[in-house]
Amino acid sequence: MTAYDADNIFAKILRGELPCHKVYEDDKTFAFLDIMPRADGHTLVLPKAAARNILDVGLDDLAAVMATTQKLTHAVMKAFDAPGATIQQFNEPAGGQVVFHLHVHVLPRHDGVPLKP
Ligand code: ADP
Repeated sequence: MTAYDADNIFAKILRGELPCHKVYEDDKTFAFLDIMPRADGHTLVLPKAAARNILDVGLDDLAAVMATTQKLTHAVMKAFDAPGATIQQFNEPAGGQVVFHLHVHVLPRHDGVPLKP
């Protein structure tokens, strides 16, 4: 697998070199709003650790990302009055990954409302 590239956009956001709309941070994870939301409240959850995707993240960091994902799924569903949520995560170009720092998409969902492309 390709090595982690510390110049990726999300690494720059984590280092404070690029702006973001931060919604959560703890010692191991960070979350901010997606710049091109496919649903209102579309949030991205990242490990602070350098991990390209789910294929090379350490288990402690993966557990922290999933714990934050669960916490923020509750929060964004409440904030956007959504009865459901879609969780997505892409790995490598063939798997649809575009930004190569592990991230989980949290998408609040409403009945009959499709995700934006
Ligand atoms: P995909 O684009 O297929 O969802 P990824 O899972 O790699 O692939 O997702 C990258 C996500 O990062 C996209 O939803 C995109 O809108 C978002 N994004 C890209 N640049 C920024 C940024 N500067 N701030 C917030 N979100 C961003």
